[in-house]
Amino acid sequence: MDYHPITMIKKIFKSALFQTTSTLFVSDKTVLLVDPNWLPHEIETIKAVTKKYRKGREFYLLFTHSDYDHIIGANAFPEAIVIATEAFSQNPDKKKVIEEMHYFDESNYIERSYPITYPMVDVLVSKDGQQLTIGDMTLVFYLAPGHNADGMFTIVEEARTWIAGDYLSDIEFPYIYHSSGEYLETLQKVDTILDTHQIDELIPGHGNPATSIKEIQKRKLENHRYILELRSAARTANEFDLSALWNRYKFRRGMESFHQKNVELVAREVGMKLS
Ligand SMILES: [Zn+2]
Repeated sequence: MDYHPITMIKKIFKSALFQTTSTLFVSDKTVLLVDPNWLPHEIETIKAVTKKYRKGREFYLLFTHSDYDHIIGANAFPEAIVIATEAFSQNPDKKKVIEEMHYFDESNYIERSYPITYPMVDVLVSKDGQQLTIGDMTLVFYLAPGHNADGMFTIVEEARTWIAGDYLSDIEFPYIYHSSGEYLETLQKVDTILDTHQIDELIPGHGNPATSIKEIQKRKLENHRYILELRSAARTANEFDLSALWNRYKFRRGMESFHQKNVELVAREVGMKLS
């Protein structure tokens, strides 16, 4: 798709925790903020920068998915128009997500100047290719279930930027909380998106942006291989190649339990006669 370039400011904030990203886009008419997180002082910084650019612009808040780390800062921006998937809005486990936020804050003695609640969604995303114009910005969405049940990819056309949520990270292998099959189907959308949109940068939910098509394809391939290897190990009771995994991903002590949970989830799926 071809879009007229407009003046666009883009800022990526990266939390000290899990390298979680929050991205701010500013155009002539619009401010779009994605997943503001985690720590109070980090959110205060994001808030101050956002405020500087508000000046009468329309203000939108977008959530890539409902994992608690991505929505914990939501209520610092109560005036924003909220964009997320229909599945996000209908999440049957809202109470669990709220509990996780409280647990995190109370475990770390964190006090916030705003309440913890599950975000109310104003603009619902429900299908691939859905387009939304917000002021002078054009967003195109693709549903991205697999990591959890309610993720989405967002293309900010004028910024030639792809907001990927918890997919295609350079520092994390796939964390599969929902379904390995749906995760693979979501990865299949990478080629469609690259064929349809001009992408200069992909911003993952954790880690560093990919700034070339080659890097995006590489991450897709790594994610794909990891899931196929998990499945094959579960089917044949072969050992997963852990040494290769920990050579590739460096936060081993933090990531081991996530790999183990992936192994268990895929074992359950294989038990359910996964095709
Ligand atoms: Zn996350």
